[in-house]
Amino acid sequence: MTTFDSATSVGVLRGTPVVPGVVAGPVVHVRDEISADAIERFGDGGFADADAAVAAYDEAAEAVAEAFVARAGAVSGGAAAVLTASAGLARDKGLRSAVAKSVGEGRGPVEAVRAAVDQFASIFSSMGGLMAERVTDLRDIERRLIAHLVGEPQPGVPAPDEPSVVVASDLAPSDTSSLDPSRVLALVTERGGATSHTAIIARQLGIPCVVGVGGAVAVEEGVVVLVDGEAGTVERGVDPDDAARRVESSRRRRAALAAWTGPAATADGVPVKLLANVADGASAEGAAEEPVEGVGLFRTELCFLDRAEEPSVEEQADIYASVLAPYAGGRYVVVRTLDAGSDKPIAFAAHEDEENPALGVRGLRLSIDNPGLMDRQLDAIALAAERTGVETWVMAPMVATVDEAAGFAALVRERGLRAGVMVEVPSAALLADRMLEVVDFLSIGTNDLTQYAMAADRMATDLAYLTDPWQPAVLQLISITARAGVAAGKPVGVCGEAAADPLLATALIGMGVTSLSMAARAVRPVGAQLAEVTLDACRAAADAALTAADPMAGRDAVRAVLGH
Ligand code: PEP
Ligand code: MG
Repeated sequence: MTTFDSATSVGVLRGTPVVPGVVAGPVVHVRDEISADAIERFGDGGFADADAAVAAYDEAAEAVAEAFVARAGAVSGGAAAVLTASAGLARDKGLRSAVAKSVGEGRGPVEAVRAAVDQFASIFSSMGGLMAERVTDLRDIERRLIAHLVGEPQPGVPAPDEPSVVVASDLAPSDTSSLDPSRVLALVTERGGATSHTAIIARQLGIPCVVGVGGAVAVEEGVVVLVDGEAGTVERGVDPDDAARRVESSRRRRAALAAWTGPAATADGVPVKLLANVADGASAEGAAEEPVEGVGLFRTELCFLDRAEEPSVEEQADIYASVLAPYAGGRYVVVRTLDAGSDKPIAFAAHEDEENPALGVRGLRLSIDNPGLMDRQLDAIALAAERTGVETWVMAPMVATVDEAAGFAALVRERGLRAGVMVEVPSAALLADRMLEVVDFLSIGTNDLTQYAMAADRMATDLAYLTDPWQPAVLQLISITARAGVAAGKPVGVCGEAAADPLLATALIGMGVTSLSMAARAVRPVGAQLAEVTLDACRAAADAALTAADPMAGRDAVRAVLGH
């Protein structure tokens, strides 16, 4: 049985909660460094000539790539795609040439791998967006190649003998996808925010998770900690009986959440609209199985990440119809027009070489110098709507002015569809009442709204404390938008990650938000949480969150209001 080392160490570390659940277990560390001694012993490897050194690199690259392929075979979906891409990167000819060149210049293979990866990493970083994110993958490959060369075990998540709490500075996709959920009680990382790889995989696997926990890696291996994925705490030295009680009560609660099947309503019977975020036909089909009233965000650009040329109207219509079709028979789908640019580089649409892509020509702004792109997409969406007979709403991303909203709405209505805009730029939230004079609905994208309100890159793992939708300034913008919706009698939904947070969902409904759209996996926990609280409690939660001093205080205040 788990025992706490209460005599020697007591304390609470705090971070950003990602997946709820209270668990207790011993800490295991993820090894991301290879022993310096092993590298020193290896030196330049003592190879007879450059060809022999490059041959050793080739063997290491193949072994690392094969290990990625094997892992990809054991998982599915996004995780498999990430691992397959990493295998491709390990076998990359450009990387090999850079290593061979470096070896030819007299470096040993370890030094050559480091130099080549540095070179690639700086190219990827300067490209920004998704390419910059791949630097984490590159660094992971670098560690694996060097470990193989010097004969050390592969770095990454250990396979613990007993269920444990995995603690790391940050996790690479290959680390998280090799996790065995039956052995991993919780994930705790020092870095990373709500949109980090760790957070995404933890949500998919349903493993309690807290990220951005300063000081986590200093907790020694074997020390028993109590992790609370809702409060965002990691505690050591907790009384064993107290810990057992909290773990059991959380287990019961999670079992109740999993059993919830809808329809969504508050405890006093006020209906709540829950919707799914989808990326393509397959995810739309999967989400249609959940208790949702439709799709609140179809990210069309995700269908085209690998396309060099703009697909024809016909081809686009086929793709969109595959997303609409599962919702025939009374449900509806909100299609977002291309949100290319910044973190979503779409070759045929996004502008290159922008100084500051997040503030550049992205989203709706792309149609300023390429109006045909928007026209063709709207034609394709209208065709798909007609073919499937599914009620289709269309919204534009990155809208900053009422003029932009009015121009877009005219184009959508010409095609007989319902027109809305996303509220992702603070200017749109502040003018939500005027926006609603020209559109039929608003949908708040809290990921970008947070990024722009807090002036903090949503991908920056060191800024997780700012890129948190619980920031009171972000909540104020959401509240202004929701109030405008109530006054105008028009729908105002939330489709960013905030909607997937069961605790925050109560406050959003309390503010007057009319729908919550989220990853399919989050629907049941959110629905079950809302079923437990009255509308008045939601309003009290909204007040508590809005008036809190900071995100942590907001979470604590809402938990207190809801009696958690
Ligand atoms: C958002 O910004 O909150 C949003 C839903 O859009 P995306 O995450 O695709 O930028
Ligand atoms: Mg966005």
